[in-house]
Amino acid sequence: MGIYMVLIGVQGAGKGTQAKFLVEKFGIPHVSTGDLFRAMKTQDTPLAREVQAIMNAGNLVPDDITNRMVEERLKEPDTQNGVIFDGYPRNVVQAEWLDKKLAERNQRIVIVPVLELDREIAIMRAEGRRYSQDKSRVYNIYFNQPLNKKDGVWVDDVDGQPLIQREDDYRESVEKRIDLYFKETVPLIEYYTVQGLVKKIDASQRIEAVAQSLIQAVEEAK
Ligand code: AMP
Repeated sequence: MGIYMVLIGVQGAGKGTQAKFLVEKFGIPHVSTGDLFRAMKTQDTPLAREVQAIMNAGNLVPDDITNRMVEERLKEPDTQNGVIFDGYPRNVVQAEWLDKKLAERNQRIVIVPVLELDREIAIMRAEGRRYSQDKSRVYNIYFNQPLNKKDGVWVDDVDGQPLIQREDDYRESVEKRIDLYFKETVPLIEYYTVQGLVKKIDASQRIEAVAQSLIQAVEEAK
């Protein structure tokens, strides 16, 4: 049985970091539909243009387009022994479709790890992020503070230049994203809870501790 899993976690829970550990540990690919859609930006086809417009408006791509893209990805040979799905499924329609697709290859989802983090901490992790001017260094003004401030503005430890906050990390936009996440995932978590697949993991722990809990949960489920 392959290790097919749906990794769920609010922004700031460290999903990307943990996905990397899982890829290394289990040798299965990380399939993020957000990444797949972003990769389409370089294409100039009617479909790519449509997807781009939807994403720019902050809306979800229609289920049929999303499912078709996942279907194509699942034809790649690296998906034979499992997949870490990320950002997919986003709703129950997609979840049911994925179950059906996997069943056709005599596979199924074996675990749905949910990286849990309080709304307030999730907001602070995103809203607190600051980058050096060349973006090569990242800090967090709450959790990983730079050493100094100049004229009330945090500055880079290395070059002393003011740090930058990404526009999509401004509090208002962070809150909007995080609230949407909680709204979206409630029915999905319910769907997988009924199947006994959900494994909650405390994402406020240190990175290594989260990784350890996660890997252990997957080992037990596979
Ligand atoms: P993400 O990086 O997962 O936040 O995805 C970025 C954007 O891609 C989303 O805002 C949607 O427009 C689109 N997207 C990603 N995954 C899905 C999905 N499973 N269903 C619909 N739209 C998606």
